Amino acid sequence: MAKILLAGGAGYIGSHTAVELLNAGYEVVAADNYCNSSPEAIRRVEEITGKPVQLYEADIRDSERLSQIFRENKIDAVIHFAGLKAVGESVKKPLMYYRNNIDTTLTLLETMQAADVRNIIFSSSATVYGEENPVPYKETMQRGVCTNPYGWTKAMMEQIFEDAARADPSLSVVLLRYFNPIGAHPSGRIGEDPLGIPNNLMPYVTQVAVGKRECLTIFGSDYPTKDGTCMRDYIHVVDLAKGHVKAVAYILQHSGTEVFNLGTGTPYSVTEIVETFERVNGIKVKHVYGDRRAGDLPEFYANADKAKALLGWQAEYTLDDMCRDAWNWQKQNPDGYRSSD
Ligand code: NAD
Ligand code: UDP
Repeated sequence: MAKILLAGGAGYIGSHTAVELLNAGYEVVAADNYCNSSPEAIRRVEEITGKPVQLYEADIRDSERLSQIFRENKIDAVIHFAGLKAVGESVKKPLMYYRNNIDTTLTLLETMQAADVRNIIFSSSATVYGEENPVPYKETMQRGVCTNPYGWTKAMMEQIFEDAARADPSLSVVLLRYFNPIGAHPSGRIGEDPLGIPNNLMPYVTQVAVGKRECLTIFGSDYPTKDGTCMRDYIHVVDLAKGHVKAVAYILQHSGTEVFNLGTGTPYSVTEIVETFERVNGIKVKHVYGDRRAGDLPEFYANADKAKALLGWQAEYTLDDMCRDAWNWQKQNPDGYRSSD
């Protein structure tokens, strides 16, 4: 069975993808510098699956270390999760974001070329559609004007992949544009473990529910949506992980560059998320309505037809499942991977 390198594999999406790849029979090698994760996540991946992961502590910008990984393992495909992802931080520290995100991509592509590894799947984001495109977003739309440096790194990296693949027809690229991944593995053993104050909605909700934060602020209640709060296409992280398994099967059979949205196609409002979380888990989440957050779009969601047609993938988990599994992870691990085992 093929061997897959997960760059940034100890992170939230990487660890869930490792589980699904191992369950599907693939061999998994993970490389991470743990700047936003813990090796404990990979230990738990092994526990969930009963299968080993070859784990390297490595900075993906370190070409010698990457070359060593490629020498020691015959890698069939790389999935590139390694990047910094906090939108607000990217506004304050743009150079750090451009340096880390672009460098990891360039170094991966260069070392892959030297090691004759021909397949790469990239974690892109719905943010590359920018402000101009109408919803639902389709892969045939042009990339738009991004609202922050994080988004621009994703747009620039997509361009880098497209140019590299155009210049080298033996390189195969799959760009996966994620919508809003939430939830956790149903076992509650792996999940999202943000450092410090969460930027994203669901970890904030779960930390209020567990008593680590006082109150959720809902950013804006005067948007032109059905209840005035923003609408997003939330997707269960296990569905997202399974999308990567399908993308691996696809890239091993196809050449060229292909872009896929990974979303459900159904948007929910912030208020609906809070109400669903409260109902499913029987727990109150204290919240107030505050000002809009700069850069937030009122609504975006995927047209998910292409992934269904070409990858044979569609999301299966419901919003109830997402809320249940997010809470299951948080209450079992109130301090994330720092919780006592
Ligand atoms: P994450 O922070 O949990 O995972 C990213 C991993 O990359 C972390 O383990 C981090 O330690 C590692 N990393 C970062 N820079 C590195 C470097 N230079 N060398 C080695 N390792 C490095 O984030 P995630 O939510 O799992 O996201 C994975 C990818 O998906 C990221 O590229 C992110 O931008 C993208 N993405 C995430 C979302 C989301 O909402 N979570 C949405 C769209 C796209
Ligand atoms: N949100 C919120 N309060 C928070 C965090 C997020 O109201 O503490 C809202 C945010 O305005 C957006 C939605 O929740 O409408 C999802 O935000 P998140 O940061 O999770 O993802 P994004 O939309 O930025 O991709």
